[in-house]
Amino acid sequence: MRVNTTTTNDPLSHVFEGHQIHQNASGPTAKSTVEEWFQDCKKHHHNLCAPPLRSKTPLPSRVIDVRTSPHKIVVTNGKLGHYTTLSYTWGGDQPYQLTPGNFQTYTHSGINLRSLPDVPLTIVDAIEITKLLDGIDYLWVDSLCIIQNDYKKTDFHTEGVKMKDYYGNSSLTICAAASQTAFTGIFNKRNVPDSTDIPYTLKNRDTGTLTIFTLDPSKENTLVSYLSLEWNPIVERAWTLQERVLSPRNIIYAKDQMYYECNTKFQAEAGFSVDGRQLSVDLNTQEISLFEKEKRNPRELWDVLVQVYGARKASHLEDKLVAFSGLAQKFHDLFRDDDGHDDGHDDVYIAGLWRKTFVQSLFWSTDNDPRPSWVSTWPPAAPLIYRAPSWSWACMDTKIYLADGRIYRSEPPSPRHYPTK
Ligand SMILES: [Zn+2]
Repeated sequence: MRVNTTTTNDPLSHVFEGHQIHQNASGPTAKSTVEEWFQDCKKHHHNLCAPPLRSKTPLPSRVIDVRTSPHKIVVTNGKLGHYTTLSYTWGGDQPYQLTPGNFQTYTHSGINLRSLPDVPLTIVDAIEITKLLDGIDYLWVDSLCIIQNDYKKTDFHTEGVKMKDYYGNSSLTICAAASQTAFTGIFNKRNVPDSTDIPYTLKNRDTGTLTIFTLDPSKENTLVSYLSLEWNPIVERAWTLQERVLSPRNIIYAKDQMYYECNTKFQAEAGFSVDGRQLSVDLNTQEISLFEKEKRNPRELWDVLVQVYGARKASHLEDKLVAFSGLAQKFHDLFRDDDGHDDGHDDVYIAGLWRKTFVQSLFWSTDNDPRPSWVSTWPPAAPLIYRAPSWSWACMDTKIYLADGRIYRSEPPSPRHYPTK
């Protein structure tokens, strides 16, 4: 159960923060909530939420101009600015992509997305959300900003490696968590919880109204069910994990409500909020719930991400490591600081594992069996298409369990405990 005030200027709105969830995520209340969260982050989160929203960052090679109609694809040539990014589920082949054939048209005349026979509503909605945000004129969407079907995927290979920076420099990532496809849109209908309004009068005769409503008890019991976006289609997709983790800020349109996630706090539309962030690659950020440590250990964070990522699937099965490569690039930077300086002994990334922890990283399993994979229930179903060596967790599309690194690092496994077949 939760208590909130019905309006933002209610006398008790500073005590009971949040709003009752309305059925439509595109309604005026939901839109003003998005604007408030973003402005609050812009004005008050200077120390933790980097890059600061006041500073312009390098724009991606191409972006969609949300202020033009039809929307033009702008070739930025290294220009600085502010932009949003979209994280979504394609849900199959995209009929509207940037291609060598339409490049001139899309960059000079633009594309009228609403007039297309099958409207890519998720992209249309992302444009609408971007237009709500003061000072942001551009949106980056992979299908319309990377040339998709050029010969030998030349543009994908050039632009794909920049994903770390594209999401890392974004002012805000719009996460279409509840959308099954690019055509279902972001503004899903939500279940409105039962509620009761209770008018009140304070001693100073100020009046207002409190709203009492119920929330899903199974989710209320464990914080992680909110943070992990359980039951939302987006958590099944491979690419979207690094998009969320690498982004400094996410506005998440989930099945039940909206969430705003930045390095300072995680906030829910219904009023719940918690300081810090889960799964941030900014090591100065306070960790939510995972480790009881003052500072993150990036090796442990990597292990957690592998475990979260394991069961996710890419549309193209061979993309399992590619869709994780932005995180690998980021961690290569973090592991470079292991000994405080770049002395030529940086760690080396090897198909989902790292050279300095290579042996213990082989002790992954698909069934939480503490024994290494080759003596437990090996082999689980093999992938149909080769995308990684058989000793790498990346060859599987199932939940991955890693041995406790602290145990294996201090006490190497004895053959006595791990009999061979
Ligand atoms: Zn913030």
